[in-house]
Amino acid sequence: MTAMKVGDGIFSVTVPTPFAVGPVNIYIVVKENRMMLVDAGANTDEAWEVLLRALRDLNKRPEDVDVIVLTHHHPDHTGLVDRFPEAIPVCGHPRLEPWLTKDRAFKERYDRYFRDLAVRLGIPSAFLDRMPKLDHYLRYGGRRALTHKLDDGDAVPGFEEWKVCYAPGHAQSHIALLRDDGVLIGGDVLLEHISSNAIVEPPYNDSEPAPHTLLQYRSTLKKCGDWPIRTVLPGHGQAFAFDGRLIAQKLSEQEERRNRIYELIKSGKRTALDISIALFPDAWKKQLDLVLSEVIGHLDWLKSDGLITVNEANGVELYEPAE
Ligand SMILES: [Zn+2]
Repeated sequence: MTAMKVGDGIFSVTVPTPFAVGPVNIYIVVKENRMMLVDAGANTDEAWEVLLRALRDLNKRPEDVDVIVLTHHHPDHTGLVDRFPEAIPVCGHPRLEPWLTKDRAFKERYDRYFRDLAVRLGIPSAFLDRMPKLDHYLRYGGRRALTHKLDDGDAVPGFEEWKVCYAPGHAQSHIALLRDDGVLIGGDVLLEHISSNAIVEPPYNDSEPAPHTLLQYRSTLKKCGDWPIRTVLPGHGQAFAFDGRLIAQKLSEQEERRNRIYELIKSGKRTALDISIALFPDAWKKQLDLVLSEVIGHLDWLKSDGLITVNEANGVELYEPAE
């Protein structure tokens, strides 16, 4: 069976992705004659074949899906929406919309923001030209407009027992779905064996400051501790029973990294690039975007706690321990 039963009326399908994170899970929720799909893999023929096989296991076809919910905008979660009939509603957080419609002004602001940011972080110009543009990253993502916007406290249309929890940090568009019986379809908010990066994003529009994604993710984690979760159905990896330990562990790993970065700054590492190289001597060249997200998130935290100060020289930010 390609579709694996993971809960009452819930089946999981694990499809391949072209990304370093490895395969991703799609959840099929069946209620009486209705069917909801949560997340939609990356848009590749291989992933589509696996999903079709899983639907066939359940005697269903793509046109039998009543609603698709996307947990967040990352392309490994949205791509296959394009392969479903146009008439099927697609739901997600309002912040997911410009990623799906590929809004031009949004994309331009994104590329400009990261180029300016890279300069401020001390990335050499030879490296800047090699940094992938947003279009490259979105190749495998979906291209549909949302038909329904879901925000904190909403219920999924037709599947009202699933409540929407807004859970920003890993992505600004991130929602999780919690059912009355404590089952959480969590996207990438709670992953057991993979670290869920708080990925840096530009401001959603010109009137907002850039979000402090790690601080956001930490409050989302703390909020999860208050939700009545019993089982997590994650975006990557297997379903797992939930108690507060995972949250405590993630929060304390972040605290350790923050202390490490503080020590590096005290020992004379001045730029985000210097810190990235010291922390991730191998990974920084291959996955500079993820490494920088990790470092920037912790720098935001140190700044907001008043532990470091920022000066600028030739457009590059230099960090120093506060007096
Ligand atoms: Zn993600």
